[in-house]
Amino acid sequence: MNKNYMPGKHFLQLPGPSNVPDRILRAMDYPTIDHRGPEFSNLANDCLEGIKTIFKTKSNVIIYPASGTGAWEAALVNTLNEDDLVLMVETGHFASLWNKMAHRLGIKTEFLKTDWQRGAMPEKIYERLKKDTEQQIKAVCVVHNETSTGSTSRIKEVRDAINSANHDALLMVDTISGLASMEYKHDEWGIDITVSGSQKGLMLPPGLSFNAISEKAIKISKKSVMRRSYWDWEEQIEANRYGSFPYTPATNLLYGLKEAIKMLHEEGLEKVFKRHDRHAKATRLAVQAWGLEVLCKEERDYSSVLTAVVLPETHNADNLRRIILENFNMSLGNGLSKLSGKVFRIGHLGDFNDLMLMGTLTGIEMGLDLAGIPHQKGGAARASEALIKS
Ligand SMILES: *Cc1c(COP(=O)(O)O)cnc(C)c1O
Repeated sequence: MNKNYMPGKHFLQLPGPSNVPDRILRAMDYPTIDHRGPEFSNLANDCLEGIKTIFKTKSNVIIYPASGTGAWEAALVNTLNEDDLVLMVETGHFASLWNKMAHRLGIKTEFLKTDWQRGAMPEKIYERLKKDTEQQIKAVCVVHNETSTGSTSRIKEVRDAINSANHDALLMVDTISGLASMEYKHDEWGIDITVSGSQKGLMLPPGLSFNAISEKAIKISKKSVMRRSYWDWEEQIEANRYGSFPYTPATNLLYGLKEAIKMLHEEGLEKVFKRHDRHAKATRLAVQAWGLEVLCKEERDYSSVLTAVVLPETHNADNLRRIILENFNMSLGNGLSKLSGKVFRIGHLGDFNDLMLMGTLTGIEMGLDLAGIPHQKGGAARASEALIKS
């Protein structure tokens, strides 16, 4: 392939994988050490303890050498049994994949529909659970930040809905793309299993994923007889006690994780969340000024991590993305499954600042011009005004 060198930095404005800061790259740039040797357990302990401060939990967080999908599977196979009924909410593409996985594992699911333009609706969850007088539903699964649509589910309200319905179901939350970008409180919100991954808000390369688990989930896992081996929590928890893992961990990613946790606390998690909010707001103002549509229709569910932008029907979003990549060396997120070609997604998460946002929005505005997509000028300028004032 004859690929010409493109000078300057590539703009990786996907909603994950996100940009990996140099500090994390440097932190990983060491020889791999013996994961059964004396040095390793310090690293493991730092990561296993440190990551709890990001999930805001005092209980166990399991670290898998796997993508987020692996941690989804771990959450299901450790706590459920074949033919169990699970309530899932169809917030978008990722919720649909999790639902499909549950089916493949022999779990029955009921899939609460949404129009893919908002987060989960706690009142619908309440209504369904209230009708489940025999407590057939064993778990409620919700995606915190639906990366395919740019909408967020109000997890605390989902917990309250389960409590109000007096229901015993486990609450499982996928915050693969929400963690370390948006407020998240595993313990305080009463989550049983939180699933997350490394390549989004945590600013790491892909390859690590997590299960934060409540005491209740651990108790239930001891009774669950679903077949599992690689994902088994018990072996992990036992090995983690001694700063080790039951199989080879992703050692160099753990070097990176330790640095990422340090960086998040240096900035301060509250500040990190505010920064994401502010960039998301400025992005939406730009989209409005262009006269284009933000996919998420429920204002209180707007995501701080990404914005999905709907194009006029006569134009293809993948064509726009191609033009922007070829001309400006920037990658934007594509529309997934039924949104394919209809939307593009702007990631504004992770290691990201005002000028990176301005570069991103300017690149999009120039791309809209080159692609001949009708829009009003001044979106990027509108965002810059908002940044100056906030
Ligand atoms: C990225 C993502 C996933 C999938 O994670 P992988 O690391 O690709 O397996 C699942 N859910 C959400 C919400 C995501 O953003």
